[in-house]
Amino acid sequence: KFPHLSSPLRIGGVTLKNRILSSGHDTVLVQDGRVTDELVAYHEARAAGGVGLIVVQVGGVHETARYTTHVLMATDDECIAGYRRLAQAAHRHGARVFGQLFHPGREILESRDGSAPVAWAPSATPSERFHVMPRAMSPEEIREVVDGYGAAARRLREAGLDGVEVVASHGYLPAQFLNPLVNVRNDRYGGSDENRLRFLHEALCSVRAQAGDGFVVGLRISGDELSHDGLTTARVLETTARLDADGLLDYVSVCAGSSATLSGSLHIAPPMSQPAGYTAPLAAEVRATVNVPVMVAGRINQPQEAEQIVAQGWADACAMTRALICDPEMPDKALQDRTEEIRACIGCNQACIGHFQRGYPISCIQHPETGRERRFAVLPPIVRRKRVLIVGGGPAGLKAAAVAAERGHEVTLHEAARRVGGQVLLAERLPGRAEFGGAITNLEGEARRAGARIVTGSRVDAALLRAAEPDAVIVATGAVPRRPALELADDPVVLDAWDVVRGAETPRGRIVVADWRGDWIGLGVAVLLARQGRRVVLCVTGFGAGEHLQQYVRAAMLGDAVRAKVQIVPNVRLYGADSDTVYLQHTLTEEPVLVEDVSGVVLAQGHDPVTELTDLADALPGRITAIGDCVSPRTVEEAVLEGLTAAAAL
Ligand code: SF4
Repeated sequence: KFPHLSSPLRIGGVTLKNRILSSGHDTVLVQDGRVTDELVAYHEARAAGGVGLIVVQVGGVHETARYTTHVLMATDDECIAGYRRLAQAAHRHGARVFGQLFHPGREILESRDGSAPVAWAPSATPSERFHVMPRAMSPEEIREVVDGYGAAARRLREAGLDGVEVVASHGYLPAQFLNPLVNVRNDRYGGSDENRLRFLHEALCSVRAQAGDGFVVGLRISGDELSHDGLTTARVLETTARLDADGLLDYVSVCAGSSATLSGSLHIAPPMSQPAGYTAPLAAEVRATVNVPVMVAGRINQPQEAEQIVAQGWADACAMTRALICDPEMPDKALQDRTEEIRACIGCNQACIGHFQRGYPISCIQHPETGRERRFAVLPPIVRRKRVLIVGGGPAGLKAAAVAAERGHEVTLHEAARRVGGQVLLAERLPGRAEFGGAITNLEGEARRAGARIVTGSRVDAALLRAAEPDAVIVATGAVPRRPALELADDPVVLDAWDVVRGAETPRGRIVVADWRGDWIGLGVAVLLARQGRRVVLCVTGFGAGEHLQQYVRAAMLGDAVRAKVQIVPNVRLYGADSDTVYLQHTLTEEPVLVEDVSGVVLAQGHDPVTELTDLADALPGRITAIGDCVSPRTVEEAVLEGLTAAAAL
C-alpha cells in the first residue's frame, strides 16, 4: 500500500529497511548526561514497532553544550556503554541507529542554579528568545569544540551506532557560524561565506577523521530558519551543495525554523495549526543541490503524507517523530495495511516537547505509555475477567475502556450524550484546534477494537449502577463550566466559553473574555469572537495569555490573537460586571481595573467536577473508581493517564 515508504534506503554503507525515521528529540529520559534504562525502553518500543531509523537525541560535544540539565552528553568515554545498550536494543528489531552531535552556541537556557556554562558563540550576538548574551569564541575554543565533534563521533561508533549527524539546524552553533547576522567575526571564521562555512566544514572533517570509513555522517539543517535574522534558503543551499561536493555528507536531514525567536521556534515542533508536511518543498530544494539522500521533518503525521513526499521526490525518507511518540507501532500498522488502527498524532505538543520544556520525561497525551514503557508497555495478565462499567465517554473513560477491554475484561461504557468525546468535541471547534478531536476518534477506535461496548445517549443513575451489578465501576462523568461568585448588576450579558463555541448569540461590540486558567479555551474563544467581528478584550490572571500552553502552541495562538486585534490585559481577576462595565482587580496591586463600553462577558473560569456518581462510592464500597474531571478538573493528558492507571489496576 505504501510502495515508496516501505522500500529500503541506502545511506552511506548502511541500509534502512524503510523510509520512516524518528528524528532526534529530547526526552528527559537522561540522567546525569547518560542513557538510562527508560531511554533504552522508549526507543526499543519504536524499533519493535517497525521504524527504519532512530536518530538518538542530541549529544553534547563539549561541556559548554549543556543547554538543559537533562541533555545527553558524548564528551567522555563513559557515555559509550549507555549508547551501546540503546543501539543493541534497536538493532534487535532491525532498526538502524544514528546519533546527533550537538552544540547549542548561544541557544542555551539560563540555569536557575547558576550552573549552566557561559554561552559560547561565534560573536557576542544575543539570543532573543533566551535573553542570553554569549561571548565570542577564541580560535583555541573553536578548535576545542571542533575536536569535540570528532571525539564524540568516535565514541558513538565504538558504541555500535550506525552513524551520526552534525546538528546545524534551528540556529544552533554551526548555523550561528553560517549566519552573517549572527557571526560578525573578522578572522578566518567570519567576514565571508567561505570563512563562515569553515566551522561546520572543520567539524564534519573532524567527525570523518575520527569516526573513520564506513560510518555514516549526515547533516541536520533548517531549509529556512523562518526568522527575521535566520539563515535563508539560499544560504542553506550553498552550504549543502558545497559540503556535498567536498564529499563530507552521506545524507542531509532537513527541517525548518530557529531556536532564536518565538516565531522561528514553533517550527521545531510545529503545532496543529501548521499544515501537514509543509517543509517538504524545502527538502526538495536541498535535494536538488546534493547527490545523497535527503530526509525531511515537519508535521508529517500520517503514512499517506509521507508516501506522497517520497513518491513525489521531495525527500528520500520522512521523520515522523511525533507520530511515533503517539503510536510506536505506526510503521508496522502502516506497512501491514492496518492504517485504520494508527493512533494519529494531533500536533498538540502538550506531552512531548511540552514535557521537555518543563523538565518532565517525554510522553503523549493520547498514549501515556510513552516514556513509561517499563511500567505500562506490558501489563500483567488479569486474574479474573471482571464486568466493568464505565460512566462517561470523555478521554478518561475511553482510555479506561480501551485498556480494560484489551486486558480481557468485559467492558461497557455509557455516555449520556449522543456522541463520545466530552469537552474535546467543543475544543476542536476553536480556531487552530481542529485536529484535537482526532484524540477522541483514536481513543474510541481503540476501545471498540478491543471489544468494549459503547452505549451513547445513556445516562447512568444510582439505580442503574446498582442493578447492573458490575464488579468494577469507573466513573468519568466530567465537569461543567465553573461560574465563580461575581457581583452582577443591571443584567449584564454573561456567557460561558463553551456557550460561545456552541454558537450562542454573542452581543455585537466590545466583549471581555475573562480567563482564569491560561489555557487554550480563553485564548481560543477570544480569537473566535474577534474573527466574528467583536472587539475583544482578553483579561487574564497571569502575566500573559495562554500561560499554560506549550510554548510553540502559545506562540502560534498569540500570533493569531495579535492578527485578530485581540487586546490582552494581564494580571487581572474578574470581580463583577454590569450592563456596560466589567470590574476587575489587579493581581499585583489589588487596585481596581475597569473595562467600559462593554456589551458582554465571556467566562473561561475553569470547571467544576460532576460528582453525582462519585458520591456513591460509599454505597458500592471498593467497586467505584473516579477518574478524570469528575474528581477535579484536569487536562486531557492527566485524564487519559488516569484512565490507563485505573484500567491497569483492575
Ligand atoms: Fe502528538 Fe500531542 Fe502526543 Fe505530542 S502529545 S505526540 S503532539 S498527540
